Amino acid sequence: MGRITLDKITKSFGDVQVIPPLDLTIEDGEFVVFVGPSGCGKSTLLRLIAGLEDVSSGEIRIDGKNATETPPAKRGLAMVFQSYALYPHMSVRKNIAFPLRMAGMDQKEQDRRIDNAAKVLNLSDYLDRRPGQLSGGQRQRVAIGRAIVREPAAFLFDEPLSNLDAALRVGMRLEISELHNRLETTMIYVTHDQVEAMTMADKIVVLRAGLIEQVGSPLDLYKHPRNLFVAGFIGSPT
Ligand code: ADP
Ligand code: MG
Repeated sequence: MGRITLDKITKSFGDVQVIPPLDLTIEDGEFVVFVGPSGCGKSTLLRLIAGLEDVSSGEIRIDGKNATETPPAKRGLAMVFQSYALYPHMSVRKNIAFPLRMAGMDQKEQDRRIDNAAKVLNLSDYLDRRPGQLSGGQRQRVAIGRAIVREPAAFLFDEPLSNLDAALRVGMRLEISELHNRLETTMIYVTHDQVEAMTMADKIVVLRAGLIEQVGSPLDLYKHPRNLFVAGFIGSPT
């Protein structure tokens, strides 16, 4: 399960409110993309959902349960960081296993989950290598593998492809979409890239200065942008 509800959440840093009261529902299994210009609050919103930041007010519910007071590790969500967040001195296997070792999971269950994730991500032949011996795309897959083994209710991605070159980005985009089709798990994907938003999303959330400008399917937003900002961002004819 992975239904996430944001109920009038706000976030301020000091006197500055970067997220004004915001409501949003993400359905179980949906691929939702948060898109908007740099500084509009995409990462902050993701970090609030993950529990890496506390909301200033309002409530986050995950499958009906108030998550606002649940620590990050217990929310059942997995954040996928960029591939440079891997541990260079550890093997691929150890990198993927890291969250499971931290949770004290027994070795047999760890191995089962790692082997599954490696199969899904085509990493089975690379488990004994170190990150430095992998291509950029393979490293990004290891970062995703570390999330998959936790069997989360939802995956949270914050611009995971922004440090890959253009060709690799296209390939990884497809891989993440295929992964979503296979796992049918809720995914929230943050990007400032319109093409990623339009090609990957079931539902796009367009943000400007912490406010939701519009929510809809890629086709909805393209055909019926609510205003010039959305039209300009999505690339609709105006
Ligand atoms: P995005 O990910 O869309 O580029 P962010 O969520 O990183 O935007 O930032 C939104 C706004 O919040 C920006 O104005 C940023 O400067 C501010 N901000 C983010 N994190 C902090 C922080 N820890 N302290 C103060 N201001 C922050
Ligand atoms: Mg950001």
